[in-house]
Amino acid sequence: MSKHRIAVLPGDGIGPEVMKEALRVLESVAGKQGFEVVTDEYLVGGAALDASGNTTPLPTETLQGCEDSQAILFGSVGGPKWEDLPPDIQPERGALLPLRKHFGLFANLRPGVCHAALKDASPVKNSLIPEGFDVLCVRELTGGIYFGTPKERREENGEEVAIDTMVYRRSEIERIAHVAFQAAKGRRGKLCSVDKANVLQNSRLWREVVVEVSREYPDVELSHLYVDNAAMQLIRYAPDYDVIVTGNLFGDILSDEMAMISGSLGMLPSASLGSPSEGGCNFGLYEPSGGSAPDIAGQGIANPIAQVLSLAMLLRYSLAEEAAAVSIECAVEKSIEDGFRTGDIFSGAAGEKLVNTSEMGQAILDRL
Ligand code: NAD
Repeated sequence: MSKHRIAVLPGDGIGPEVMKEALRVLESVAGKQGFEVVTDEYLVGGAALDASGNTTPLPTETLQGCEDSQAILFGSVGGPKWEDLPPDIQPERGALLPLRKHFGLFANLRPGVCHAALKDASPVKNSLIPEGFDVLCVRELTGGIYFGTPKERREENGEEVAIDTMVYRRSEIERIAHVAFQAAKGRRGKLCSVDKANVLQNSRLWREVVVEVSREYPDVELSHLYVDNAAMQLIRYAPDYDVIVTGNLFGDILSDEMAMISGSLGMLPSASLGSPSEGGCNFGLYEPSGGSAPDIAGQGIANPIAQVLSLAMLLRYSLAEEAAAVSIECAVEKSIEDGFRTGDIFSGAAGEKLVNTSEMGQAILDRL
């Protein structure tokens, strides 16, 4: 029986509430599929600040626990209580960013999925998405304009000037392209690379390298879009797209656009992956796309699906337990088809049942 170890960081707000449901699903799916997962829980974010007298949102033992694990299942961090602390120790900036940096998590995978049964929740016209859509956005996370140097403000000829630098190295483009082609291979076999090659030098390199890498994936159909056109096409007809790969800045914007047109943040998982190990698995951090939702925290009404689907991604990419991942995704799909709805996706239509966090967790468990 294979035995895995993961670090569980529930965090703040709705984090612990939705994490509880994901762990129930994990225990059940592991039993059914015949593997074992040891889960070690650690403090992060505001919870860690409270416990440490506002000294750190990422304690040493949390970081050490993550190092000793194959993957991190993360809830969400932050809330009004910690907003006035110095920026460096604020929950998101002081915990998530250092974790990404420490583990070299360069590939951000954000599925934008709108289930056919939930298309009313999307701001896109139903006639444009009759069957919903399922697009995976693969964003490069550690390079590009957010990190390039020089990055400064200075004075030139008596005027203030601000400078950011967009840099991409061939090796950075190659490794994110491989992640995207492999993801496309396991899905519908279509990859669209998004750049601004009509204007930017580093987008020209991006396109050249993606085309070179594509020769290793003859079964994946590659296309290209300029980012301004991509922003329009995703709204015009998202079902046309399968996997999108793009740089840090463009991916930041497009993945939020995908989240918006999908309907509810409570449905969307995400993965941030590092380089594959010798066994082919990636170390990764898996978390819902949304935040700690202070407006509904403590009421037991948050949607646990984003957290549960983050667990499915963890099983797929870090533990190579594909059958377990698929079984969770099918159980979520079936729960939606059977009408279970938390408040964020409830429309009041006939056949819908309004449920709370643990009832949605139970619906998924019952369908595993
Ligand atoms: P948010 O994502 O927490 O909430 C936005 C809206 O979406 C709210 O109305 C919320 O109720 C709803 N929502 C989000 N997840 C939901 C779920 N699972 N079920 C039902 N409804 C859900 O964004 P925000 O309000 O901008 O931020 C709140 C806090 O979260 C801030 O402190 C912010 O810094 C933090 N945050 C953390 C992360 C993270 O941990 N990765 C990400 C984003 C925001």
